[in-house]
Amino acid sequence: MLSLSDLPIRDDLRGKEPYGAPQLDVDVALNVNENSHPVPPSVVDAVRRAIDAELSGLNRYPDREFTRLRELLLTYVQEFARRQSADGATPVGGLTADWLWAANGSNEVLSHILQAFGGPGRTALGFVPSYSMHPLISESTGARWIAVDRGADFGLDADTAVAAVREHQPDVVFLCTPNNPTGGRLRTEVIEAVLNASTGIVIVDEAYAEFARPGYTTAVHLLPQHPRLVISRTMSKAFAFAGARLGYAIAHPALIDALRLVRLPYHLSALTQAAACAALEHTPALLENVEALITERDRMVTALDQRGFDVAETDSNFVLFGGVADPALLWERLLDAGVLIRDIGIPGHLRVNAGTPAETSAFIDAITAIVAAHPDTLENS
Ligand SMILES: *Cc1c(COP(=O)(O)O)cnc(C)c1O
Repeated sequence: MLSLSDLPIRDDLRGKEPYGAPQLDVDVALNVNENSHPVPPSVVDAVRRAIDAELSGLNRYPDREFTRLRELLLTYVQEFARRQSADGATPVGGLTADWLWAANGSNEVLSHILQAFGGPGRTALGFVPSYSMHPLISESTGARWIAVDRGADFGLDADTAVAAVREHQPDVVFLCTPNNPTGGRLRTEVIEAVLNASTGIVIVDEAYAEFARPGYTTAVHLLPQHPRLVISRTMSKAFAFAGARLGYAIAHPALIDALRLVRLPYHLSALTQAAACAALEHTPALLENVEALITERDRMVTALDQRGFDVAETDSNFVLFGGVADPALLWERLLDAGVLIRDIGIPGHLRVNAGTPAETSAFIDAITAIVAAHPDTLENS
């Protein structure tokens, strides 16, 4: 049988494993941080009409600059930042649609950034544990990945971050806030300190921003002063639109121009643009389940804490919990009970995302029964 290693593949890709969260057919899937709620019927109707209107025009290439989509994304970005100004953050002014970029998921946005600013002979640095795609995307461009450990509590302070940036002088720094898979957020001072210490591009991955607890501030406020800052976001989580594949970035127009050099022409299909625009015109309906997911997340935190697990603080739609004696075994037992969660490879820990009330209850009931039957599920039992 022909195998990958028989092919003249790039040396730096030999022996690498692809991204592989299991896609299993289970009743309760809480493993990839999706929004468990279906797209609301009013949005389904709007998306259907918008796609229908595109169909006979599919003989033509789509708008390469996805102009309308960028306008709608700008409106949302400003609204989201304004909502936080009410909490005391400085308002953001001066952004126009030129500051917006979009691609097929924020993974593609990140790939564009790394193609433009990473690549062979360059370095990208991240603070781990964090999103597993950051190193994969960086290395796929030929950049060298530098992993810097977070503290035991998975926090990251400005001194640690700045010391790492000074030591390695990376071409690209990844900050993820709220951070996947640990859940917590970075203080704005840490982001500012990294921006000031770095001469490279600083990516702030805000995939979970909508789920953050009060006091969280988007880094959008820092954009006018920092032309090397790029913020990435996605419609895959809060917007319940993971299947449509739409991620976006906000950065200085000069930085966005660099992304045009590496994207494939017409990378956003007419259907994707139409679906995303229709969805964004119904933002309040799409985001209506965010509060419900936050409630379920908090219910999970309380339940896991009461069962004796160590629960990390979370600003996301998921919970990282520790104190697990054998994560692979607990993962398997939950799967036997029809509940799929995620083993992200952190010793003693597992990650689970908030679901609908019924899904969340199914998870809590299953783990409660497992702990009752096997008290040694807990590390310190
Ligand atoms: C889920 C996730 C993304 C989103 O990826 P998409 O390609 O937009 O679906 C990006 N960053 C982080 C940290 C994530 O957890």
